[in-house]
Amino acid sequence: MSDAPLHLEPRLEPRLAALLGSASFLHTLVAALGSPLNIVLPEQIAENAERFRSVLRRHQLAGRVFFAHKANRSSALVRRLAPTAAALDAASVSELQHALGSGFTGDRIMATGPKDPEFLWLAARAGVTVNADGAAELEEAARLVRAYELPRMRVVLRLSGFETSGARMLSRRSRFGTTFASLGGLLDTLERHQDALEPIGVGYHLDTTSLEEKTTALEGCLRAVEELRIRDFQPRAIDVGGGFGVNYLARADQWDRYTTELTHAVMGKRPPMTWGGHGYGLRAENGTLKGALSLYPAHRPIAGAAYLDELLSRPAPGLGRPLGTLLLENLTDLYAEPGRALTDQCGLTLGTVLEVRPTESGEPLVRLAMNAGDVGLEDHGVLMDPVLLPRDGAAPRADGPVGVHLMGNLCLEADLITRRTVFLPRLPQPGDLLAFVNTAGYCMDFTATHAQQQPIARKVAVREEAGSWHWCLDEQYWPVGHMGGQQA
Ligand SMILES: *Cc1c(COP(=O)(O)O)cnc(C)c1O
Repeated sequence: MSDAPLHLEPRLEPRLAALLGSASFLHTLVAALGSPLNIVLPEQIAENAERFRSVLRRHQLAGRVFFAHKANRSSALVRRLAPTAAALDAASVSELQHALGSGFTGDRIMATGPKDPEFLWLAARAGVTVNADGAAELEEAARLVRAYELPRMRVVLRLSGFETSGARMLSRRSRFGTTFASLGGLLDTLERHQDALEPIGVGYHLDTTSLEEKTTALEGCLRAVEELRIRDFQPRAIDVGGGFGVNYLARADQWDRYTTELTHAVMGKRPPMTWGGHGYGLRAENGTLKGALSLYPAHRPIAGAAYLDELLSRPAPGLGRPLGTLLLENLTDLYAEPGRALTDQCGLTLGTVLEVRPTESGEPLVRLAMNAGDVGLEDHGVLMDPVLLPRDGAAPRADGPVGVHLMGNLCLEADLITRRTVFLPRLPQPGDLLAFVNTAGYCMDFTATHAQQQPIARKVAVREEAGSWHWCLDEQYWPVGHMGGQQA
């Protein structure tokens, strides 16, 4: 039945499911604060961080879980983590200021990403560990430390271009980090700056879902730690970066069916499933399927903390024994920098339905008071059904699932919330809300702009207590007081 509705139901954990069950609360918030509206759940990020820590415990490893702040600008999420054991990965001077102002002390922060002098100086001043991209950054850091008579800076060396068995380059090319082959030169630089810089470890961040690439990189880091020890440095940590991923979808069968049907649609064997027959990277050429699917693998059986568990349980490609065991025997701490995975189930984005317009050619157009920049799921290749929250709380009418296209509020042909034909339980009406769930990782505020002077979503933090929901503006949230997760 190729024209049956193709659903991609979002995976919902209890907290987010309970929030969606409180439709009148969400309608009240949008009535007060406008559409689009972002909601974050600070209690969830604390729970997610604890899941990562329990993986470290299971492998008897000491270490730190750094929240990669760039996934979300929220104050509530950062402040909720401040009184926990979590640390934070800051990728700009403003993120660093935000972390310091939210209660993180410098010893629980790592500075990553491209660094301007202001960022490096504040990191050095505040005693932040610097994840160094290469020799030039180490030179600049050493210069600042001496010029401003700052304490010795702790640095982690970001490596890339790992090899297995000395030959094949297995990890993909990255614009970041120093290649494993150039480690010797980097250590020469460090020897010259021993008074200013203290290398405490090595690491990588690979933007890939591949466990093979990461096992190779982690084994490479174990070898790099040996190199440092041979040169009389005292490294004590390996940083496995981020990229643990999120499982967005509730059902594997829906995902499999969707991607299979998409190839059929591209090949012209079934009606289009997207606006204008868009193929998400796939195309037909002379009757054969070409290209590669450019979508996030939205159903991922192993994601988040479970992915870290799997990585540590896997044998090292060369050394053969589990990577977690090797780390333990090497007396090496494990650092991880999850962004997306720590924000899993931590929020949603609401948009009001403004207009429902029938079309002659097919699916009705549903226009929302938001645009593609406000909900970056499509931009990240994440396909997932929004949840319809009827205005009056009325039970869905029995007219059955209907395929629609979701349009944004910009005067642009390209402003589609998603190019996918989306199936809703019934035709929406103006005043209904669509909830795009699980947007807290990169899909909430990363790409929001003031284009056309449309409003940028406000953000509120919510917390359920004794069956009722409390809320405050994101910037008003502190872990103490009525929104506080823990009472002193
Ligand atoms: C973006 C980034 C992360 C977080 O990546 P996720 O895929 O969100 O887990 C961690 N470390 C560095 C250096 C990054 O640039």
